[in-house]
Amino acid sequence: MSKSNFWFVKDLGGILCCIFTWILILFALFTFLIVVRPLFFINSPEIKSKIFYTSLYLFLTLFAIFSHTKTMLSDPNESNQDTFLSSGRKYLVCSICSSLKPARAHHCSVCKRCIRKMDHHCPWVNNCVGEANIKYFLLFLFYIASMSIYSVFAASIGLLNLTKIETSGIPY
Ligand SMILES: [Zn+2]
Ligand SMILES: [Zn+2]
Repeated sequence: MSKSNFWFVKDLGGILCCIFTWILILFALFTFLIVVRPLFFINSPEIKSKIFYTSLYLFLTLFAIFSHTKTMLSDPNESNQDTFLSSGRKYLVCSICSSLKPARAHHCSVCKRCIRKMDHHCPWVNNCVGEANIKYFLLFLFYIASMSIYSVFAASIGLLNLTKIETSGIPY
């Protein structure tokens, strides 16, 4: 019997946190495009560099949203119980959901089941971070960190550009 691969945790708090995360990412994009970008490029007439640096931020945002969605919609458990049974090892049984409990598995009260190699239940991605989706979660953190570092860098250059214009007295 084929099992549906669709995975989504029906937790209202998690869904609201997840929507809030998307709003924050889109707000960061809006701030970069409307406020930071014009100041960043104020002394740069080159259209090629404008396209390159703007596209870089757009791609980081796109990848951040993609990895966030992938973390949320991925089942954190990679292999099914049969794989563990056939491996011949001994496992504990969860006292709450009665499923097999290999090493580093924990029962999540939000997902209502045991998660293998559970890191934590993250409401910001509305899912547990476990053995199968930790790579997407780490990628999400990487893209968000890159967006933040890039924004600080671009805003600093923008402020520097503003200061130069103010001290030289050229109107803008
Ligand atoms: Zn359990
Ligand atoms: Zn969970």
